[in-house]
Amino acid sequence: MERSLTDPATLVRRWRLPDASLADISAASDRFALKLPEHLARVLGGAAASDPLVRQFLPSADEIVEREGFVSDPVGDAHVQRVPGLLQKYRGRALVVATAACPVHCRYCFRREYPYADASAASRWPEVVASLREDPSITEVILSGGDPLSLSNAVLARMVGALEDVASLTRLRIHTRFPTTSPSRVDDGLLEALTRTRFAPVVVVLHVNHARELAGDAADAVRRLRGTGAVLLCQSVLLRGVNDDEDTLAALSERLGALGVVPYYLHLLDRVRGAGHFEVPESEGVALVRGLTERLPGYLVPKLVREVAGEGSKTLISLAPR
Ligand code: SF4
Repeated sequence: MERSLTDPATLVRRWRLPDASLADISAASDRFALKLPEHLARVLGGAAASDPLVRQFLPSADEIVEREGFVSDPVGDAHVQRVPGLLQKYRGRALVVATAACPVHCRYCFRREYPYADASAASRWPEVVASLREDPSITEVILSGGDPLSLSNAVLARMVGALEDVASLTRLRIHTRFPTTSPSRVDDGLLEALTRTRFAPVVVVLHVNHARELAGDAADAVRRLRGTGAVLLCQSVLLRGVNDDEDTLAALSERLGALGVVPYYLHLLDRVRGAGHFEVPESEGVALVRGLTERLPGYLVPKLVREVAGEGSKTLISLAPR
Protein backbone atom coordinates (compact mmCIF):
# COMPACT_ATOMS: atom_id res chain seq x y z
CA MET A 1 0.00 0.00 0.00
CA GLU A 2 2.97 2.30 0.57
CA ARG A 3 3.72 2.00 -3.14
CA SER A 4 0.19 3.07 -4.15
CA LEU A 5 -0.02 5.81 -6.73
CA THR A 6 -1.56 8.89 -5.08
CA ASP A 7 0.01 11.83 -6.90
CA PRO A 8 -1.97 13.11 -9.95
CA ALA A 9 1.15 14.42 -11.72
CA THR A 10 2.88 11.04 -11.39
CA LEU A 11 -0.20 9.31 -12.77
CA VAL A 12 -0.38 11.63 -15.79
CA ARG A 13 3.31 11.05 -16.50
CA ARG A 14 3.25 7.30 -15.96
CA TRP A 15 0.09 6.64 -17.96
CA ARG A 16 1.08 9.21 -20.63
CA LEU A 17 -2.24 11.04 -20.20
CA PRO A 18 -2.63 14.43 -21.89
CA ASP A 19 -0.98 17.19 -19.83
CA ALA A 20 -4.26 19.10 -19.99
CA SER A 21 -5.98 16.38 -17.93
CA LEU A 22 -3.85 17.12 -14.86
CA ALA A 23 -5.98 20.07 -13.70
CA ASP A 24 -9.18 18.00 -13.71
CA ILE A 25 -7.57 14.99 -12.04
CA SER A 26 -6.09 17.23 -9.36
CA ALA A 27 -9.37 19.06 -8.73
CA ALA A 28 -11.28 15.78 -8.35
CA SER A 29 -8.53 14.34 -6.16
CA ASP A 30 -8.77 17.32 -3.83
CA ARG A 31 -12.31 16.12 -3.00
CA PHE A 32 -11.56 12.39 -2.86
CA ALA A 33 -7.90 11.46 -3.12
CA LEU A 34 -6.51 9.48 -6.03
CA LYS A 35 -5.36 6.04 -4.91
CA LEU A 36 -4.27 3.21 -7.19
CA PRO A 37 -2.38 0.15 -5.99
CA GLU A 38 0.77 -0.80 -7.86
CA HIS A 39 -0.96 -3.83 -9.40
CA LEU A 40 -3.67 -1.72 -11.07
CA ALA A 41 -1.28 1.10 -11.98
CA ARG A 42 0.72 -1.49 -13.91
CA VAL A 43 -2.15 -3.47 -15.44
CA LEU A 44 -4.13 -0.41 -16.55
CA GLY A 45 -1.26 1.79 -17.76
CA GLY A 46 -1.85 2.94 -21.35
CA ALA A 47 -5.58 2.18 -21.38
CA ALA A 48 -8.01 4.93 -22.46
CA ALA A 49 -9.85 7.04 -19.88
CA SER A 50 -13.07 5.45 -21.15
CA ASP A 51 -11.83 1.91 -20.43
CA PRO A 52 -14.36 0.35 -18.00
CA LEU A 53 -11.70 -0.42 -15.41
CA VAL A 54 -9.89 2.91 -15.69
CA ARG A 55 -13.21 4.76 -15.43
CA GLN A 56 -13.81 3.28 -11.97
CA PHE A 57 -10.56 4.62 -10.55
CA LEU A 58 -9.42 7.68 -12.54
CA PRO A 59 -10.55 11.00 -10.97
CA SER A 60 -12.50 13.08 -13.49
CA ALA A 61 -13.98 16.55 -13.97
CA ASP A 62 -17.47 15.02 -13.76
CA GLU A 63 -16.95 14.62 -10.02
CA ILE A 64 -16.91 18.37 -9.53
CA VAL A 65 -20.38 18.84 -11.03
CA GLU A 66 -23.04 19.36 -8.34
CA ARG A 67 -26.22 17.36 -9.07
CA GLU A 68 -29.50 17.56 -7.24
CA GLY A 69 -30.16 14.60 -4.95
CA PHE A 70 -26.51 13.58 -4.63
CA VAL A 71 -25.43 13.96 -1.01
CA SER A 72 -22.57 13.17 1.35
CA ASP A 73 -24.23 10.25 3.18
CA PRO A 74 -26.73 8.65 0.79
CA VAL A 75 -27.28 5.48 2.83
CA GLY A 76 -27.74 7.12 6.24
CA ASP A 77 -24.64 5.69 7.94
CA ALA A 78 -24.63 8.60 10.40
CA HIS A 79 -27.98 7.53 11.89
CA VAL A 80 -27.26 3.87 12.58
CA GLN A 81 -24.15 3.96 14.78
CA ARG A 82 -24.34 1.81 17.90
CA VAL A 83 -20.94 3.21 18.91
CA PRO A 84 -18.38 4.92 16.66
CA GLY A 85 -17.25 2.34 14.12
CA LEU A 86 -20.15 -0.09 14.66
CA LEU A 87 -23.21 0.33 12.42
CA GLN A 88 -26.43 -1.62 12.69
CA LYS A 89 -28.96 -1.25 9.90
CA TYR A 90 -30.53 -4.68 9.79
CA ARG A 91 -31.80 -7.13 12.41
CA GLY A 92 -29.24 -9.66 13.63
CA ARG A 93 -26.28 -8.15 11.77
CA ALA A 94 -23.83 -5.38 12.58
CA LEU A 95 -21.09 -3.84 10.46
CA VAL A 96 -17.67 -2.88 11.79
CA VAL A 97 -15.96 0.01 10.00
CA ALA A 98 -12.65 -1.71 10.67
CA THR A 99 -10.37 0.85 9.05
CA ALA A 100 -10.40 3.93 6.86
CA ALA A 101 -7.91 2.51 4.38
CA CYS A 102 -8.75 0.88 1.05
CA PRO A 103 -6.48 -0.64 -1.59
CA VAL A 104 -7.97 1.68 -4.20
CA HIS A 105 -10.30 4.67 -4.28
CA CYS A 106 -13.36 3.83 -6.38
CA ARG A 107 -14.72 7.10 -7.69
CA TYR A 108 -18.37 6.13 -7.05
CA CYS A 109 -17.81 4.99 -3.44
CA PHE A 110 -20.78 5.80 -1.18
CA ARG A 111 -18.36 6.32 1.70
CA ARG A 112 -16.26 8.91 -0.17
CA GLU A 113 -17.11 11.42 2.55
CA TYR A 114 -17.48 9.09 5.53
CA PRO A 115 -15.94 10.71 8.65
CA TYR A 116 -13.44 7.93 9.27
CA ALA A 117 -11.36 9.96 11.74
CA ASP A 118 -14.28 10.09 14.20
CA ALA A 119 -16.24 7.01 13.25
CA SER A 120 -14.07 4.00 12.60
CA ALA A 121 -13.49 1.09 14.95
CA ALA A 122 -9.69 1.20 14.86
CA SER A 123 -9.31 3.28 18.02
CA ARG A 124 -12.59 2.24 19.70
CA TRP A 125 -12.25 -1.53 19.57
CA PRO A 126 -13.12 -2.27 23.25
CA GLU A 127 -16.35 -0.24 22.92
CA VAL A 128 -17.25 -2.06 19.70
CA VAL A 129 -16.78 -5.48 21.29
CA ALA A 130 -18.68 -4.45 24.44
CA SER A 131 -21.58 -3.25 22.32
CA LEU A 132 -21.73 -6.57 20.45
CA ARG A 133 -21.62 -8.48 23.74
CA GLU A 134 -24.51 -6.44 25.14
CA ASP A 135 -26.88 -7.48 22.35
CA PRO A 136 -27.11 -11.24 21.82
CA SER A 137 -29.63 -10.72 19.00
CA ILE A 138 -26.65 -9.78 16.82
CA THR A 139 -25.33 -13.07 15.47
CA GLU A 140 -23.38 -11.93 12.40
CA VAL A 141 -20.61 -9.38 12.26
CA ILE A 142 -19.41 -7.86 9.01
CA LEU A 143 -15.88 -6.51 8.77
CA SER A 144 -15.99 -3.65 6.30
CA GLY A 145 -14.50 -0.19 6.02
CA GLY A 146 -12.59 1.03 4.19
CA ASP A 147 -11.33 -2.44 3.49
CA PRO A 148 -10.60 -4.68 6.47
CA LEU A 149 -7.79 -6.45 4.59
CA SER A 150 -5.89 -3.15 4.77
CA LEU A 151 -5.08 -4.27 8.31
CA SER A 152 -2.13 -6.57 8.88
CA ASN A 153 -2.74 -10.24 9.53
CA ALA A 154 -1.69 -9.73 13.15
CA VAL A 155 -4.22 -6.93 13.74
CA LEU A 156 -6.93 -8.88 11.93
CA ALA A 157 -6.19 -11.95 14.04
CA ARG A 158 -6.57 -9.89 17.23
CA MET A 159 -9.89 -8.49 16.01
CA VAL A 160 -11.25 -11.86 14.98
CA GLY A 161 -10.02 -13.38 18.25
CA ALA A 162 -11.97 -10.78 20.25
CA LEU A 163 -15.07 -11.47 18.14
CA GLU A 164 -14.69 -15.21 18.69
CA ASP A 165 -14.98 -14.53 22.44
CA VAL A 166 -18.45 -13.02 21.95
CA ALA A 167 -20.47 -16.21 22.33
CA SER A 168 -23.61 -14.90 20.59
CA LEU A 169 -21.76 -14.30 17.29
CA THR A 170 -22.05 -17.23 14.91
CA ARG A 171 -21.06 -15.80 11.52
CA LEU A 172 -18.24 -13.62 10.24
CA ARG A 173 -18.44 -11.84 6.94
CA ILE A 174 -15.64 -9.85 5.27
CA HIS A 175 -16.25 -7.28 2.53
CA THR A 176 -13.17 -6.69 0.42
CA ARG A 177 -11.86 -5.31 -2.87
CA PHE A 178 -8.27 -6.49 -2.27
CA PRO A 179 -8.27 -9.81 -4.17
CA THR A 180 -8.92 -8.10 -7.52
CA THR A 181 -7.09 -4.81 -6.97
CA SER A 182 -4.06 -5.92 -4.95
CA PRO A 183 -4.04 -9.73 -5.20
CA SER A 184 -0.76 -10.28 -3.35
CA ARG A 185 -2.66 -9.34 -0.16
CA VAL A 186 -4.21 -12.82 -0.22
CA ASP A 187 -1.16 -14.32 1.43
CA ASP A 188 -0.57 -17.49 3.41
CA GLY A 189 -1.15 -15.77 6.77
CA LEU A 190 -4.55 -14.54 5.69
CA LEU A 191 -5.54 -17.92 4.27
CA GLU A 192 -4.53 -19.64 7.48
CA ALA A 193 -6.49 -17.14 9.59
CA LEU A 194 -9.62 -17.73 7.49
CA THR A 195 -9.29 -21.47 7.90
CA ARG A 196 -8.46 -21.50 11.61
CA THR A 197 -11.22 -19.30 13.03
CA ARG A 198 -14.21 -20.81 14.81
CA PHE A 199 -16.35 -18.80 12.33
CA ALA A 200 -15.15 -20.94 9.39
CA PRO A 201 -16.49 -21.08 6.79
CA VAL A 202 -16.13 -17.30 6.69
CA VAL A 203 -18.32 -15.46 4.16
CA VAL A 204 -16.14 -13.31 1.89
CA VAL A 205 -17.98 -10.77 -0.24
CA LEU A 206 -15.91 -9.54 -3.17
CA HIS A 207 -16.63 -6.29 -4.94
CA VAL A 208 -16.16 -6.74 -8.70
CA ASN A 209 -17.84 -4.80 -11.50
CA HIS A 210 -16.30 -6.19 -14.69
CA ALA A 211 -15.05 -9.61 -15.84
CA ARG A 212 -11.65 -8.15 -16.76
CA GLU A 213 -11.03 -7.48 -13.06
CA LEU A 214 -10.85 -11.25 -12.65
CA ALA A 215 -7.81 -12.02 -14.82
CA GLY A 216 -4.33 -13.35 -14.01
CA ASP A 217 -3.14 -12.75 -10.44
CA ALA A 218 -6.61 -11.64 -9.34
CA ALA A 219 -8.16 -14.93 -10.43
CA ASP A 220 -5.40 -16.80 -8.59
CA ALA A 221 -6.15 -14.81 -5.43
CA VAL A 222 -9.82 -15.74 -5.67
CA ARG A 223 -8.90 -19.41 -6.15
CA ARG A 224 -6.67 -19.26 -3.06
CA LEU A 225 -9.53 -17.80 -1.04
CA ARG A 226 -11.81 -20.52 -2.29
CA GLY A 227 -9.30 -23.09 -1.08
CA THR A 228 -10.01 -22.03 2.52
CA GLY A 229 -13.59 -23.22 2.16
CA ALA A 230 -14.86 -19.64 2.48
CA VAL A 231 -18.27 -18.90 1.01
CA LEU A 232 -17.52 -16.49 -1.84
CA LEU A 233 -20.14 -13.96 -2.95
CA CYS A 234 -19.84 -10.95 -5.21
CA GLN A 235 -21.55 -7.62 -5.04
CA SER A 236 -21.35 -5.27 -8.01
CA VAL A 237 -22.52 -1.74 -8.69
CA LEU A 238 -24.32 -0.94 -11.93
CA LEU A 239 -22.20 1.86 -13.38
CA ARG A 240 -22.60 3.94 -16.53
CA GLY A 241 -19.71 3.32 -18.90
CA VAL A 242 -18.45 0.34 -16.88
CA ASN A 243 -20.96 -2.51 -16.95
CA ASP A 244 -24.22 -0.99 -18.22
CA ASP A 245 -24.86 -3.51 -20.97
CA GLU A 246 -26.16 -7.04 -20.92
CA ASP A 247 -23.14 -8.72 -22.55
CA THR A 248 -20.77 -7.18 -19.99
CA LEU A 249 -22.93 -8.22 -17.03
CA ALA A 250 -23.37 -11.73 -18.45
CA ALA A 251 -19.61 -12.06 -18.94
CA LEU A 252 -19.07 -10.96 -15.33
CA SER A 253 -21.53 -13.57 -14.02
CA GLU A 254 -19.98 -16.30 -16.17
CA ARG A 255 -16.48 -15.41 -14.98
CA LEU A 256 -17.55 -15.33 -11.34
CA GLY A 257 -19.29 -18.68 -11.74
CA ALA A 258 -16.15 -20.20 -13.29
CA LEU A 259 -14.19 -19.12 -10.21
CA GLY A 260 -16.76 -20.46 -7.76
CA VAL A 261 -18.13 -17.05 -6.74
CA VAL A 262 -21.88 -16.44 -6.54
CA PRO A 263 -23.06 -13.15 -8.13
CA TYR A 264 -25.14 -11.95 -5.22
CA TYR A 265 -26.15 -8.31 -5.55
CA LEU A 266 -26.18 -5.80 -8.39
CA HIS A 267 -26.59 -2.46 -6.63
CA LEU A 268 -28.14 0.59 -8.17
CA LEU A 269 -25.78 3.49 -7.51
CA ASP A 270 -25.91 5.08 -4.07
CA ARG A 271 -26.41 8.75 -4.82
CA VAL A 272 -23.25 10.11 -3.27
CA ARG A 273 -21.98 13.58 -4.15
CA GLY A 274 -19.49 13.44 -7.04
CA ALA A 275 -20.76 10.17 -8.57
CA GLY A 276 -23.77 11.32 -10.59
CA HIS A 277 -22.11 10.55 -13.93
CA PHE A 278 -22.08 6.84 -13.01
CA GLU A 279 -25.83 6.58 -12.46
CA VAL A 280 -27.92 4.15 -14.53
CA PRO A 281 -31.71 4.60 -14.15
CA GLU A 282 -33.65 1.88 -12.35
CA SER A 283 -35.72 1.09 -15.48
CA GLU A 284 -32.53 0.34 -17.40
CA GLY A 285 -31.25 -1.85 -14.55
CA VAL A 286 -34.52 -3.81 -14.59
CA ALA A 287 -34.27 -4.39 -18.37
CA LEU A 288 -30.66 -5.55 -18.03
CA VAL A 289 -31.36 -8.02 -15.24
CA ARG A 290 -34.44 -9.30 -17.07
CA GLY A 291 -32.16 -10.00 -20.02
CA LEU A 292 -29.72 -11.86 -17.76
CA THR A 293 -32.58 -13.94 -16.38
CA GLU A 294 -33.37 -15.14 -19.89
CA ARG A 295 -29.83 -16.17 -20.77
CA LEU A 296 -28.21 -17.44 -17.55
CA PRO A 297 -29.07 -20.03 -14.91
CA GLY A 298 -30.76 -18.46 -11.88
CA TYR A 299 -27.71 -18.86 -9.64
CA LEU A 300 -25.68 -16.61 -11.96
CA VAL A 301 -28.25 -13.78 -11.95
CA PRO A 302 -27.59 -11.19 -9.23
CA LYS A 303 -30.46 -9.60 -7.33
CA LEU A 304 -31.02 -6.01 -8.39
CA VAL A 305 -31.16 -3.92 -5.21
CA ARG A 306 -31.11 -0.41 -3.92
CA GLU A 307 -30.13 0.71 -0.44
CA VAL A 308 -32.70 3.08 1.02
CA ALA A 309 -31.69 4.91 4.20
CA GLY A 310 -33.81 3.83 7.15
CA GLU A 311 -35.18 0.63 5.57
CA GLY A 312 -34.85 -2.69 7.45
CA SER A 313 -33.25 -4.49 4.50
CA LYS A 314 -31.93 -3.82 1.03
CA THR A 315 -34.81 -2.97 -1.32
CA LEU A 316 -35.23 -5.68 -3.93
CA ILE A 317 -36.17 -4.15 -7.30
CA SER A 318 -39.04 -6.01 -8.94
CA LEU A 319 -38.41 -7.28 -12.47
CA ALA A 320 -42.14 -7.62 -13.21
CA PRO A 321 -43.44 -5.36 -16.00
CA ARG A 322 -45.24 -2.32 -14.57
S1 SF4 B 1 -12.76 -0.35 -1.89
FE1 SF4 B 1 -14.92 -0.19 -1.21
S2 SF4 B 1 -14.88 1.26 0.54
FE2 SF4 B 1 -12.94 1.48 -0.60
S3 SF4 B 1 -13.26 3.15 -2.08
FE3 SF4 B 1 -13.75 1.23 -3.15
S4 SF4 B 1 -15.95 0.96 -2.85
FE4 SF4 B 1 -15.27 2.47 -1.33
